[in-house]
Parts: sequence; C-alpha cells; structure tokens
Amino acid sequence: MCVAQPFGRCHKCDGLGFALKHDRKGRPKRGKHCRRCNGHGIRIRRGRHLWNLWARTYRQGTTPAPKHPAQKG
Ligand SMILES: [Zn+2]
Repeated sequence: MCVAQPFGRCHKCDGLGFALKHDRKGRPKRGKHCRRCNGHGIRIRRGRHLWNLWARTYRQGTTPAPKHPAQKG
C-alpha cells in the first residue's frame, strides 16, 4: 500500500536510478541515468498533508508563540 512517506520510489526508473535496457542476449543492462530522480531512485514527496503533519509536530515541540507576533501597518 502507498503510505505517507517522505520518499517515494521513482516511477520512471522504478527505484533503480537508471533505465533498464536489455542487450541482444536478453540480459538486463544498465541504461541511461535517470534524470528525474538524479539517479537516486527515490523522489521526495511534498504534499500539503505532510506539511500539516510537520507543522503540528513543530508546534507541539515549541513553546506557544504570541498570538500576533508582528503586526504590520
Ligand atoms: Zn528515476
């Protein structure tokens, strides 16, 4: 299942970091360097849901800030 993780597998290279090619004998061969994930095979997921989770954790870990820190105008 696809759970909420900060890193997701690259769909283009399926987490390999490079494209798979097969030579004439049918053996898997390392192809082009995946530029989508820069060869890491993982991609960072950034979503509003994750942001909310992080923000909540961050607030709990810090002391309560003043309601209106800096009013402009
Ligand atoms: Zn990739």
